[in-house]
Amino acid sequence: MFESSPVRGELVDISTAWQQVQSLRQYPPAVCTMLGEMMAAAALLSANLKFNGSIILQIHGDGPVQLLVVECDAKLQLRATAKLHADARVPDGSSLQQLVNQHGDGRFAITLDPADKLPGQQAYQGIVSLDGDSVATVIENYMMRSEQLDTRLWLAADQKVSRGLLLQKLPEEGGTAEGGTTEAGTATETTTDMDADAWNRTVMLASTVSSEEMLSTDIMTLLQRLYWEEKVRVFEPRHPAFHCSCSREKVGNMLKMLGKEEIDSALADLGKLEIDCDFCGQHYGFDAVDCMQLFTADAISDAVQLPGHQQH
Ligand SMILES: [Zn+2]
Repeated sequence: MFESSPVRGELVDISTAWQQVQSLRQYPPAVCTMLGEMMAAAALLSANLKFNGSIILQIHGDGPVQLLVVECDAKLQLRATAKLHADARVPDGSSLQQLVNQHGDGRFAITLDPADKLPGQQAYQGIVSLDGDSVATVIENYMMRSEQLDTRLWLAADQKVSRGLLLQKLPEEGGTAEGGTTEAGTATETTTDMDADAWNRTVMLASTVSSEEMLSTDIMTLLQRLYWEEKVRVFEPRHPAFHCSCSREKVGNMLKMLGKEEIDSALADLGKLEIDCDFCGQHYGFDAVDCMQLFTADAISDAVQLPGHQQH
């Protein structure tokens, strides 16, 4: 927090989690930059959320990159994956527009998915077009439109490092300041007491940081270097980590959703269904017996329960 200023900030370094994502799959450098930046952004936005659940950032591309997905939960556990066209060629230094918005059909989606959904409750999803030439700009535009909050992001990622800085202008609640009446006169006074220029100043300072500097400087040094002249209150750091939430049960549910007919025909072709998690590489195999159980499990548990009830 910037003292006496309507500005808050966050700095993240998720390099370890980011390296774990890439230990699974190698991406071309330009894709690395984009996915790594999305991951830093997800951590920044997630720390900002006041609900227990996950934030999912997705880009559906119409260029060489088809899909980029990053998920971050309330404990700052992250996972990420990207899907490229089979014959994709990705020159180094490709721009966001070249990667995912060649024909203007690319889409960016933010999903807020509560952990304990009530029956019938849906995840909230906002979808926007991909205007902007960086992940940061796309998210800034989204935040301005959906939250009406001035939010600025600076993101940097390469094959080793992923870091980000977020600044947010807090709504100025003029008249509602501590105690007393809220007359129009006092409201304006309260606002002028605040450091009115703080937002422009903190943003301008952050804008002096190049992505090279961000990649080569740890976040506490960066904070010191940028804001040594400001009164900054620093909070206890939290610790982001790589984690995949996939499970055999979830894969089973997904197969069930495809329907028995679809599964039977796939089994007839392949003999056994092999599914690898896109996020962590975990392998799940379902043979004919496993699949049969998927569709009969409910019926069996009913059958098992009935005699139990009759015993007494
Ligand atoms: Zn997984």
